[in-house]
Amino acid sequence: MIELKRIISIIIKSLTITAVVSAVIGFTFNLLGLNFFAGFFIAVVLQFFGWWLFDIYTNKKFMASMANARAQNNLADSYQNIELVCSYCGAKNITRILLNKNNTFKCMNCNNVNGIKIELTTTRTITPLIADKELSEIFSKLQDNENSNQRQNAVNTEKVKLDSSKKDK
Ligand SMILES: [Zn+2]
Repeated sequence: MIELKRIISIIIKSLTITAVVSAVIGFTFNLLGLNFFAGFFIAVVLQFFGWWLFDIYTNKKFMASMANARAQNNLADSYQNIELVCSYCGAKNITRILLNKNNTFKCMNCNNVNGIKIELTTTRTITPLIADKELSEIFSKLQDNENSNQRQNAVNTEKVKLDSSKKDK
């Protein structure tokens, strides 16, 4: 309800401003010996056209700022926070690194600037696959064990039942 009131007041304000500006232009037309309504009408059309262009411009500006914010966000995402030891004093520092940049950090403890050297290593993807296979073998063995235990338990329960039924007789 408050929102609707606000919108109506904005519309009334805009229309009043448009009407006043148009009336002034209409009077100017009249003073120049031209038709008041012709001036008024032209002023209204020009103002609506102007507001329409202004709206497009502000929308474009808004979209551009949104895109910029998104780009900034993506950049922030590509940073990695890591803990590094200062090469001067050995204090632990949490710093951000970006892979495609020369990274440095200023030690929080001694204020010296450290360079960061990034080393990458490779592994054969076969290694974890073997590990997976071994794990699954161990798992299936455990499963078998579990199953045989359950079978054993079932047999035992059956025995107990038989025993108790014998007692009943
Ligand atoms: Zn330090």
